[in-house]
Amino acid sequence: MTIPELSDGADVRSAVADAGLLEDGIRSAGLKVTAPRLAVLRALSDRPHATADALFGAVRADLPGTSLQAVYGVLSSFTTAGIVRKIEPAGSPALFERRVGDNHHHIVCTRCGVVHDVDCAVGHSPCLTPVDALGFDVRAAEVIYWGLCAQCQSETALP
Ligand SMILES: [Zn+2]
Ligand SMILES: [Zn+2]
Repeated sequence: MTIPELSDGADVRSAVADAGLLEDGIRSAGLKVTAPRLAVLRALSDRPHATADALFGAVRADLPGTSLQAVYGVLSSFTTAGIVRKIEPAGSPALFERRVGDNHHHIVCTRCGVVHDVDCAVGHSPCLTPVDALGFDVRAAEVIYWGLCAQCQSETALP
């Protein structure tokens, strides 16, 4: 379930471009390697926080026969297998990313919708402990910070 290249954060971007690593990532999740799965994982490597629609657009260039439904199916199997994370900021379609297992959070611009990763302050989940967990065994805390990104601040600043 653990993807080897994710243990070494610095090399994530360059390493995932390698098709062999993409295949290993799919296999390590217990899934069969198929052309649509490879194409979606490759597209996701270049587009963190992408919507299914955006991924479909990227994948369709490589695999003209792919349907949006097939992309949804691949994303669902990846999410279930734990190699892809799905986040759902309010008012946004679901976003997908390959960065999993590090309990990182997200910061979203209320104006343009840009999404960035925010490292977990503690480094393990849950990084926020509720005042009263109501008897739950709390496993994760997912935080979304909302605000204006730097570019939107400059675009909306009064002259
Ligand atoms: Zn913005
Ligand atoms: Zn993220």
